[in-house]
Parts: sequence; C-alpha cells; structure tokens
Amino acid sequence: MYKLKGNPVAAGVAIGKAKIIGKPELNITRRKILSHEIGSELDKFNSDLKFIINELDKLIEDYNYSKENRDILESHKMILEDPQFHTRVTELISEELLSLEHAISKYFTEVSDIFDNMDNPYLTHRASDLEDVAYRLLSHVMNVRKDLLNDVDDKSILIMENITPSFVTKVFEKNIRGLCTEKGSKNSHSSIIARSMNLPMLVNTIGLLTKVKDDDSVIIDGNDGLVIVSPTKAELQKYQQIFVQEQNNRNELLKLIDLEAVTKGGKKIELMSNIEIPQEIDQVLKFKSSGIGLFRTEFLFIDREDLPTEDEQYTIYKEISEKSAPHSVIIRTIDVGGDKLSSILNITHEENPNLGCRGIRISLQNVPIFKQQIKAILRANSLRNIKIMFPMISGVNELRKIKDIMDICKSDLKKNGIEFYSDIQIGVMIEIPSAVITSDALAEECDFLSIGTNDLIQYTLAVDRDNSTISDYYQSTHPSIFRLIKYTVENAHKKGKKVAICGEMASDKELVKYLLALEIDELSVSPGRLLLIKKEILNTDLAEAKIKLEKILVSKTAEEVNKIIRT
Ligand code: PEP
Ligand code: MG
Repeated sequence: MYKLKGNPVAAGVAIGKAKIIGKPELNITRRKILSHEIGSELDKFNSDLKFIINELDKLIEDYNYSKENRDILESHKMILEDPQFHTRVTELISEELLSLEHAISKYFTEVSDIFDNMDNPYLTHRASDLEDVAYRLLSHVMNVRKDLLNDVDDKSILIMENITPSFVTKVFEKNIRGLCTEKGSKNSHSSIIARSMNLPMLVNTIGLLTKVKDDDSVIIDGNDGLVIVSPTKAELQKYQQIFVQEQNNRNELLKLIDLEAVTKGGKKIELMSNIEIPQEIDQVLKFKSSGIGLFRTEFLFIDREDLPTEDEQYTIYKEISEKSAPHSVIIRTIDVGGDKLSSILNITHEENPNLGCRGIRISLQNVPIFKQQIKAILRANSLRNIKIMFPMISGVNELRKIKDIMDICKSDLKKNGIEFYSDIQIGVMIEIPSAVITSDALAEECDFLSIGTNDLIQYTLAVDRDNSTISDYYQSTHPSIFRLIKYTVENAHKKGKKVAICGEMASDKELVKYLLALEIDELSVSPGRLLLIKKEILNTDLAEAKIKLEKILVSKTAEEVNKIIRT
C-alpha cells in the first residue's frame, strides 16, 4: 500500500480500479517481408509519414500549446523531414526486407544508440524527442491509436497526467468513479467541470504516474486529498464505511429538493446552477434549481474544427430555455482564452493568456462571431426567460460597445423579419478589480451584476488560477475579496440592481453564510453542490453571520479570516 498526496478538487470517496489514460504500448514484431511487398510497404511509409507531418503541422498551429511545446513539435517534424531518415528506412525495407514498423523502429534505435554513446546532456534530451516522434509515427503505422476511453467502465478511476476541459466533457458521458491527475490545479476550468459532475477528484498528485499501474486497486479520498494505492484490508474497510456514510448523506440531501432556499429568519435566496455543457441541464432539473445562473457557452466552441452556426446555437439555447422555464437562464457569451483556448477562434499564442485576449476581448475582436451568438440568443428567447451576460468586463467602455453591437443585431433581425423579444436583460461579470471599482457605473448601465470570484481572486491577488506551483497564493478567504464583494453589492444596490455570485466561492459551504451576510441576492453553484448549499442556507442565521462578517471585513490576512470562519 502507498499513499500519495494531491489537491482535492471535489470531495468524496471513490473506490475502484485504476485506468491509466495514456499511450497504448507498442509491440514491434521483427518481421521480414517478401520482395513483392516492397512497393506496398514503401507506399504505406510515404502516406503514413505525410499523415504524421500534417498532424504535427496542425498541432503546431494549435494555440493550446505553449511556445516551448510548439518548439518541441517543430523539432519532431524536422526529425521526420530529415532526408537521412527517409533514405535509411527506404533502404531497410527494399534491401534488408524489413517490414515498415521494423524498419522505422530499427532506424530510431540506431540513431538513439549514437546519442547514448555521446556523453552530452543536450543529446540525451534529443533522445527523448526521438522516442516521442518514433512513438507518434509507429502508433499510426501499427494502427494502435484508439479511443482513450474505450476500456473505461463503471468501476474505473482515471489516472492521467493532466486533463483538458474538453476531455472532462467527454468523461461526463462515461460512468466512472473518480479522477486523479499528476498535474493540474483545482481552480482550472477542467476542475470546475469535474466538480459539477460530483466526481471525487484530485489534481497535482506528485508521483502518481510512476506509482500507479493499470488495474491497481485504488481509493481516492477527495476529502483529505489522498490517493491510496493497493490499500490494506483495514484501510479498504474504513473507506467502504465512509463511502456508505457519504451515500447516506447524499440521500438525506435529496430530501431538501422541494424546500425553498430560505435562511433561518425566512429570507429567500435565489439558488441557481452553473452549467458548462447542455447535458447538465437534466441534473439541474432533477435538483429543482431555480434556474441557470451561468451557462458557460464557450464549451460549445472548443474541441471542434468549425464554429457552431447561429442555428446550432439557437437550438441549444432554446432547448435550455424551454427546459428551465419558468425559471431564468443566464447565457454568458464565449469566454474562451486562458486555459480554454479554442483553435477555431482567431487566438494567437500569448505568453500571458490570462492577461491577454480572453473573454469579451475575443468577442469584440471577432464581431461576426459575436453577432452570431447574440442573434442566436435573441431568437431563442421566445419564452422571455433568457438573460445575457458578458465575461471579463473591465469597465463601461466595453459595455457600451456591446450595446451598440446588440443594437445592430436587433436591427438585422428586424430587417430579415425574424421574430425576437427586444427587451432582453443584460448583465456583466465582475471579475476584474477595475470592474469592482467602477461597479456603480456598470450597474447604472446594465440590468444585473454577477461576481466571478474565480477570476476576481486571480486578478486581485495576481495569481494564475491554473498554476499549481503557486496555488497557496490563491486565497478565496483573503480579506480583500470580501471587501471587494461588499463594495460591489453596495454599488449595485444603490442603483437598484441585483448582484449574484457565480464563481466557486458560492459553492463553498463554509463561505455561503458570509456571502448572504454581504447581502448577495443570488447564488449560482455547481449542480452537484446545489443541495449542500441549500442546506447551508437553511441553517444560516443572518444576524449571527453578520457579526462574524464584521470581523472578517477588518481582518488583515486570510489566516485570520479562516480562524473566524472555523470558530
Ligand atoms: C469566475 O471567474 O468566477 C467565473 C464564474 O467564470 P469562469 O470560471 O468561467 O472564468
Ligand atoms: Mg471568469
């Protein structure tokens, strides 16, 4: 048995079998061919090589890669384009009658032997590039590339190096027990989606891939941030009991489904849900959420080669609006960028993507795409329960530009005789300190505000939310965050506008009562946390929470705030 430490993303215990999601192994057979096979083997070599070079070209263009990664891919391409490689493999096939896979593998062994015999660290590094590129080509030649989720079943705990938001959305369709990654941060979008699926998950689990093998028995303890590999009988029993207890707690929570979210003193709170992919709406309906407080539409744009058309978007928005009615649905326009880079939008590689062209900046730079999305939303609003919200707003200037674009969209629709409801409510996300400071002006010029605490923490504390090495600086309980929320709420209320919180702070059961004490009007949380947060609201004594809040607001450090919260 070993225990590894990781950062918990979603609480809960999972007991299952490890499924390593990575590269399939290559078993090269040292096969000889007959002379009449030479022609077909050479043809296959040329076409497979062309395929892989094209694949590398596409990856090099893909903005999901950092500059370092793209340089590596460039060097891989150079290895394959080296005339010596082509000549030697051709020779091995036509003169030594080696099969294509045998010839390629022999070539790479010959070259890495030369590197291995030179005592030069740079060349050792090159040897690992050779290994990578050989693997890429051979796995294609041998046709062993497969759907990574093929062998996954309902006992699987996925073990991966890292996970992208688009891969999590694929996992959503599989019935797995848990997830654990060697890298990654708990504030990334991948983690947020995993949390909404209520899957026990750990990230930043150092040593994971060297310690865990396929089919190992593993336990994920998402409460204490542990992975237990090959547990002892006693350990297994202990976790089976915790698992049963958690199931019971979940069943208890289900009893709250039909209750209204009101504090002890009877104040009603709008408790809504965040969704990332349309399929999540069914869980939202099951838990009787009072609507969708944030639909992150960018997930319709990632992991595909073309843009979703206006009609395609219209159909999705309309279905969500119909399923949610009479409750409202807040559709947020695309917030690609940062860790959600999309290869189909015109996003060039940036050294600091979280400070670069993301959120509304992408939409304002790609107006035709922005207009398509706005028109799809306007058309889908036949039940009048849709509101539209804009991400990463830094001030009123952007809001005014958006309104001009919305006016053009409305007159285009009118000109084309398309029916729509013109008076859609518009809101902005408060995620950048400048938006907090000018929230009075923003509130005056829009219908509602929604605080995105995930980014607000990132930009206030100047800490990259995706960088696990500095995650200790990412403090949701830093006193500055409470003060910024207070400032925003006061400004919005002075202008008669409502304020929601749709960042992950709203899904944190320890913080909910203080957000309510700050007079937040609405909370929008992960569907998987909805009932837990409802339970917190039902247990909240606002007068008591306000007394503690006063202390929080004059605290000097996150540690002081944590102490107040826990006593
Ligand atoms: C936020 O920043 O809090 C938020 C809700 O937006 P996202 O997590 O999608 O950036
Ligand atoms: Mg955000």
